[in-house]
Amino acid sequence: MASELEPEVQGPDRSLLECSAEETAGKWLQATDLTREVNQHLAHYVPKIYCRGPNPFPQKEDMLAHQVLLGPMEWYLCGEDPELGFSKLEQTNKPSHLCGRVFKVGEPTYSCRDCAVDPTCVLCMECFLGSIHRDHRYRMTTSGGGGFCDCGDTEAWKEGPYCQKHELNTSEIEEEEDPLVHLSEDVIARTYNIFAIMFRYAVEILTWEKESELPPDLEMVEKSDTYYCMLFNDEVHTYEQVIYTLQKAVNCTQKEAIGFATTVDRDGRRSVRYGDFQYCEQAKSVIVRNTSRQTKPLKVQVMHSSIVAHQNFGLKLLSWLGSIIGYSDGLRRILCQVGLQEGPNGENSSLVDRLMLSDSKLWKGARSVYHQLFMSSLLMDLKYKKLFAVRFAKNYQQLQRDFMEDDHERAVSVTALSVQFFTAPTLARMLITEENLMTIIIKTFMDHLRHRDAQGRFQFERYTALQAFKFRRVQSLILDLKYVLISKPTEWSDDLRQKFLEGFDAFLELLKCMQGMDPVTRQVGQHIEMEPEWEAAFTLQMKLTHVISMMQDWCALDEKVLIEAYKKCLAVLTQCHGGFTDGEQPVTLSICGHSVETIRYCVSKEKVSIHLPVSRLLAGLHVLVSKSEVAYKFPELLPLSELSPPMLIEHPLRCLVLCAQVHAGMWRRNGFSLVNQIYYYHNVKCRREMFDKDIVMLQTGVSMMDPNHFLMIMLSRFELHQIFSTPDYGKKISSETTHKDLVQQNNTLIEEMLYLIIMLVGERFSPGVGQVNATDEIKREIIHQLSIKPMAHSELVKSLPEDENKETGMESVIEAVAHFKKPGLTGRGMYELKPECAKEFNLYFYHFSRAEQSKAEEAQRKLKRQNKEDTALPPPVLPPFCPLFASLVNILQSDVMLLIMRTVLQWTVEHNGHVWSESMLQRVLHLIGMALQEEKQHLENVMEEHVVTFTFTQKISKPGEAPNNSPSILAMLETLQNAPYLEVHKDMIRWILKTFNAIKKIRESSSTSPVAETEGTIMEESSRDKDKAERKRKAEIARLRREKIMAQMSEMQRHFIDENKELFQQTLELDASISAVLDNSPMVSDMTHTALGPAQTRVPEQRQFVTCILCQEEQEVKVESRAMVLAAFVQRSTVLSKNRSKFIQDPEKYDPLFMHPDLSCGTHTGSCGHIMHAHCWQRYFDSVQAKEQRRQQRLRLHTSYDVENGEFLCPLCECLSNTVIPLLLPPRNIFNSRLHFSDQPNLTQWIRTISQQIKALQVLRKEENTPNTALSKNLENVDELQLPEGFRPDFHPKNPYSESIKEMLTTFGTATYKVGLKVHPNEEDPRVPIMCWGSCAYTIQSIERILNDEDKPLFSPLPCRLFGFTTTTPHQHCLTFRKHLLPSSPNDLIIIDDCLRSLTRFAAAHWTVASLSVVQGHFCKLFASLVPGDNHGDLPCILDIDMFHLLVGLVLAFPALQCQDFSGISLGTGDLHIFHLVTMAHIIQILLTSRTEENGMDQENASGEEELAVLALYKTLHQYTGSALKEMHSGWHLLRNVRAGIMPFLRCSALFFHYLNGVPSPPEIQATGTSHFEHLCNYLSLPNNFICLFQENKEIMKLLIESWCHNTEVKRYLEGERDAISYPRESNKLIDLPEDYSSLINQASNFLCPKSGGDKSRAPTLCLVCGTLLCSQSYCCQTELEGEDVGACTAHTYSCGSGVGIFLRVRECQVLFLAGKTKGCFYSPPYLDDYGETDQGLRRGNPLHLCRERFKKIQKLWHQHSITEEIGHAQEANQTLVGIDWQHL
Ligand SMILES: [Zn+2]
Ligand SMILES: [Zn+2]
Ligand SMILES: [Zn+2]
Ligand SMILES: [Zn+2]
Ligand SMILES: [Zn+2]
Ligand SMILES: [Zn+2]
Ligand SMILES: [Zn+2]
Repeated sequence: MASELEPEVQGPDRSLLECSAEETAGKWLQATDLTREVNQHLAHYVPKIYCRGPNPFPQKEDMLAHQVLLGPMEWYLCGEDPELGFSKLEQTNKPSHLCGRVFKVGEPTYSCRDCAVDPTCVLCMECFLGSIHRDHRYRMTTSGGGGFCDCGDTEAWKEGPYCQKHELNTSEIEEEEDPLVHLSEDVIARTYNIFAIMFRYAVEILTWEKESELPPDLEMVEKSDTYYCMLFNDEVHTYEQVIYTLQKAVNCTQKEAIGFATTVDRDGRRSVRYGDFQYCEQAKSVIVRNTSRQTKPLKVQVMHSSIVAHQNFGLKLLSWLGSIIGYSDGLRRILCQVGLQEGPNGENSSLVDRLMLSDSKLWKGARSVYHQLFMSSLLMDLKYKKLFAVRFAKNYQQLQRDFMEDDHERAVSVTALSVQFFTAPTLARMLITEENLMTIIIKTFMDHLRHRDAQGRFQFERYTALQAFKFRRVQSLILDLKYVLISKPTEWSDDLRQKFLEGFDAFLELLKCMQGMDPVTRQVGQHIEMEPEWEAAFTLQMKLTHVISMMQDWCALDEKVLIEAYKKCLAVLTQCHGGFTDGEQPVTLSICGHSVETIRYCVSKEKVSIHLPVSRLLAGLHVLVSKSEVAYKFPELLPLSELSPPMLIEHPLRCLVLCAQVHAGMWRRNGFSLVNQIYYYHNVKCRREMFDKDIVMLQTGVSMMDPNHFLMIMLSRFELHQIFSTPDYGKKISSETTHKDLVQQNNTLIEEMLYLIIMLVGERFSPGVGQVNATDEIKREIIHQLSIKPMAHSELVKSLPEDENKETGMESVIEAVAHFKKPGLTGRGMYELKPECAKEFNLYFYHFSRAEQSKAEEAQRKLKRQNKEDTALPPPVLPPFCPLFASLVNILQSDVMLLIMRTVLQWTVEHNGHVWSESMLQRVLHLIGMALQEEKQHLENVMEEHVVTFTFTQKISKPGEAPNNSPSILAMLETLQNAPYLEVHKDMIRWILKTFNAIKKIRESSSTSPVAETEGTIMEESSRDKDKAERKRKAEIARLRREKIMAQMSEMQRHFIDENKELFQQTLELDASISAVLDNSPMVSDMTHTALGPAQTRVPEQRQFVTCILCQEEQEVKVESRAMVLAAFVQRSTVLSKNRSKFIQDPEKYDPLFMHPDLSCGTHTGSCGHIMHAHCWQRYFDSVQAKEQRRQQRLRLHTSYDVENGEFLCPLCECLSNTVIPLLLPPRNIFNSRLHFSDQPNLTQWIRTISQQIKALQVLRKEENTPNTALSKNLENVDELQLPEGFRPDFHPKNPYSESIKEMLTTFGTATYKVGLKVHPNEEDPRVPIMCWGSCAYTIQSIERILNDEDKPLFSPLPCRLFGFTTTTPHQHCLTFRKHLLPSSPNDLIIIDDCLRSLTRFAAAHWTVASLSVVQGHFCKLFASLVPGDNHGDLPCILDIDMFHLLVGLVLAFPALQCQDFSGISLGTGDLHIFHLVTMAHIIQILLTSRTEENGMDQENASGEEELAVLALYKTLHQYTGSALKEMHSGWHLLRNVRAGIMPFLRCSALFFHYLNGVPSPPEIQATGTSHFEHLCNYLSLPNNFICLFQENKEIMKLLIESWCHNTEVKRYLEGERDAISYPRESNKLIDLPEDYSSLINQASNFLCPKSGGDKSRAPTLCLVCGTLLCSQSYCCQTELEGEDVGACTAHTYSCGSGVGIFLRVRECQVLFLAGKTKGCFYSPPYLDDYGETDQGLRRGNPLHLCRERFKKIQKLWHQHSITEEIGHAQEANQTLVGIDWQHL
């Protein structure tokens, strides 16, 4: 339908091709009204070039546009051939010293953490590599597109602003030079003309809003009825919605719809239909109807084709302007002039203004084109950048308003350009002073937050999705404010002061709206019905955090500003507190003879808010006043006397009390929103401007008032005043038992209050509060973090507050406090606290969470115990307070404080009921400790004449006052030190007493006021020894108990053993008995072992007992008993492949009989080694299946394994498995009943006999296949046929195996066939036995490669256990196997061994369940490939056969023939001859394909016998190949080649015959290192000089070699017409990765999507196997695979890795494992930063370097075929991985 209506694509007008650029330009030069002339030209030609049909033809359009439209302009501009003109301009140009490279999406950018003025200053890769910063602490990120390189911008860098390349030009630009001086007058005039016309035209047409009418001067004479239905991008509808809608609306295929949607998303608009108006209108209405249901509809316009044509050309024109100005800075300046020139409508009418102001109406593509033009023009010209910045600032409010209405991301909005001006210090300063930018930004921000409550505070209660969306957009304004403030002024002008303070006023207005927002009231009785909105307020707070800090930083720089700001802030706070005491009855509190008046207020009853930014800003400023000493220099200028301390502390105190009450469980009914708020209040992201400042505010308050008054108010706010003003509260409470909960609650509140006092006194590490600097502060943070546990760099960074430049300051101090420990193969590098820093540990560090505090306490005590110290954790020595805060310490010796201490101690001494708690006591002890430290400090630092007024020791020595006459604090402590219930605190109490005595001594020696004698000192001393002994005894008991528990624990961790205790014991016993048996048996160890042939070493029969892991019953492995099976996983593999482009095209027709030497597609079998009864496994699998079905019905979830494909997890170790291998006895022994070893035929005779037998079989076969009518003739033939002697083709041997074993043989055989060929299971298929042999051969080959690559000996070092016994113990083995250390530990070798043995024996036994004639047929064909017979036409030539696969096939198929042979030839003889024959064929193969050149280093000494023999053989070959074989003269080289080439084959063969026949390997082969050539030959019954083989069988070999060489393929190879594999085959490796990760990013950023023509790929992904870069996770590169759409990675795995893939997602720095369509996981990448950590997602941006060990580990996983298993384990461990649509990657 649609296609009929669509008009034909119109071809280009012939006249276009004849249009001459030069002529047109000539006409224009003559023109009087150039504008009209040009417009006419455009009106005529543009619609003839653009938009000629439904689809754009970009190349043709560009070509024509250049010739007809742009060409004339270039001619006009240059006044000559533009090629000449432009190159002249280029030559005279003095290029800019700015780089200005605009970043592409995904391009790496670099910032220097040492030198960049702020983190937005970045370099492109080229500049970075040529800069000094490459040796600094740089940060690497990938660009999101937009933004440009700041190289050459002296304002962006503190040091090294130029790279080497851009430095070259700096010498000449000393003074600002007008770039126009390099241009001639003519050129200037013409450029001006043409730029003005073209720029205006482009702006005009791009901002044109009519849909079918052109501007009058472009209107055409005859207008066709051709329209576009134009679909626009929005951020509301999803890809899927758009695709679905388009399919409906314009009747296109899904593929076309995807194409449309992709373009719409990328360019912002795309025509989806072309035709007459009606036709387009119809599509539009369908789209609108379909998308308007839930949301606003998609934007669609029906536009006349000529408008679209002009707009397309308009865009082209802007890009053209961008490229033209690249020739000359002069041209650039002219364009800037044109752009900023005020238009006819005055203010805001310049072209630049017009574009900016219509930004939100333009589509994405248009925006990005003009933004780019701005970047390459206005932002590159320093003079005009300033003017542009002014225009931007003037339009700021409007632009932001537009942006708020627009739904596009900020990255495509013109507002995103703010970063370009606001971060440039001089521009920012200019905009602040001249355009009042700070105030404008803040006011604009306030404009957009209109919801206020009655008090004028922000209100986010009814917070809708739309509001949330707008709120997110508003936040970009805060970002702008941050940019403006990021670089701090070094000099202040009066103007700047004034404008900054104006901005500060506006900012205070903003904070005022936040002060007290989102208040909460405690919920009593009912739980809250709905969680109140709290996130918006916190988001705002979080976003503003850095701005608040920066405001303070600015204030700190100028004393005048600081004083003014302080005054303003105080005024606003006073306003906020207006009516603070109104309406409330003041209440008088009194304790200890002190009394104070305060308001009646209860946190638990009235409203309270966490948001107090004004108070906190004032606290910050107060600290600055203290730090900068303004307070002492200009006290008269500060309103210090106006400060009302009770007012200052009121709200922060309420907030802290709220936290305490929440902690005491009083606010449970208020739900999670409050818990979350409290969490963020303390969180590292907020605390700096929240919690920390509240503490400072209280410190400020205490230092300005009577500490007794402060404490009383505090007691009152904590609602504890009653308790401490009531004597004998403890006794009273303990007598009442009803209020347990309330007592508990009060206890927590008391603890919290004590903690708060500790913080007020102890937290003096902010410069200004205490006499410290910023380094001390950060050091202390780190010390306390590392006191919890050693930490990785990233962990540490996360726990520290970041400043606006994302710096924590950590690197500068970390060395001083911590040691770095490098990471191993896994894990990360760790920082450990230096031991000498432990003394600075403060248990009550205010940034600890509760959990951290208890962890740190435990760790520190443990450390002390290890160092054999007492376990007291006394308060550290603190730095002195700054003078403004100095009086704060008196709180410790205030009467109320002493009362509190005494009360708590009294309770403890009384030790009754629950009025006191250990933490309460611990805190009091800590406070006493702090007071003692303080006094000691004072005494030690006292000046001669001064008297220390801090007399805590004196005060605590005095007994309590009447009427109680309670003992002194000191006396109570002495009592407590022997209290049996205070074991944990004894060390601390002892420390206190010791310190007390030390202070006493100092006081005595300085003869200051004497301190009362402690009565109990002597007692203390004597009791100490007794105590010590007692404690030692207890410690010993504790240690024993601990050890016992540890032992139990480790027992439990081995949960397998725990669950299977009996089994474990059994196995142990079994193990013991078996090894005993083996030790006693006369082993054949000193004989030479022979693995095959008549001389095969006889091994005593071993009985094999195994235990089923499921029913735990033990059973002997026997031929006739029930089958035992091993869990196994079969998979296709390309790990050994030498040709990744080859894969099985049509599995149904594929013939796997001969494996090609490129090993392009093999089948690998692996096993975890766990044994089950076949029937137990069957039952287990059935239950898994049933469970899965139920689960699917219920949840539609995936599992990590695919039950429908036969997958399951090993019930013991959870290894992924998909079938089972039966456990068998050596199968050869069963069939080798007829053993006559005397008089066996030699090779020649044997070949002859076998050939005869084959011939007989073939005749018989043919007859069987001929129709019955010829029966008589058949019989005749049989008679005619001379059956070889003793050959009885009618004989069918009886299968010796039990039914159960036979069934398992079929099961595993079918599974191998099904997986290996990817076909439906069919046990009858003749290819089943071939696949079984192939899997055996391939698995042996891959294990041989692993052992070889790892330099491991061929056989395990545990020969006794290897042989004939499989244990079920290795659960731990499985774990190590899982960790892929295979085969580095002996246990892993056992598993390989079990698996290979079972696999080999299975493959050898499989023929018994296959059709005899089929197996015979395979044998005949395999045999014929070496010994040519009559009936085999197209067999591969020997160059195209993998000889090891051939050997395995021949040996394993041979019994099918031999069982009918009664002539006395043994199986062993056959094996030997087959092996010799294949070996010789392999030698010939190696010689034919040998590639080594003879080098000059020929061995001079007389050649040995072997070398001569090889040379002779080679000469024969030379002769047979008709001299096509290259001549060689060095036998030495040849021999070396042959030996090297044949080694893998010999090693594989040794493994194969070892497992087949069970002959132990000679101990020599188990040694590491040497090549073992001789030992292998002996073991394999080969002569050491294997050329002897040829000589012994001269006659027959001559014939055979001749036949091999005469093959046409061999000829073609020798003549260079084709290729062949040569030997030895090298092991495959993963690709080489670069050392520096950024070069990978750079490579990927240049990578274009191969399908969507020149687009950047969004998720470039590197195949680590073959090095292909793919465009992953994107619609553009989806392909269809087996009827499903899959992403590029999944598609690639099918060709590259037979379904298994290893990728590196370059932009995420993440390794991706894929297996099949549904399985995948992410894996840690092999790139580490200097701190030994990976950076998945590239979030931290530290330089990353390749870690070879980790990369090797990944390669090992691949070599071991463990990728699928790794995915399985990852998915089991993390269920979310299961839900990912891996096939779309
Ligand atoms: Zn650059
Ligand atoms: Zn540069
Ligand atoms: Zn630097
Ligand atoms: Zn069982
Ligand atoms: Zn297992
Ligand atoms: Zn793509
Ligand atoms: Zn690949």
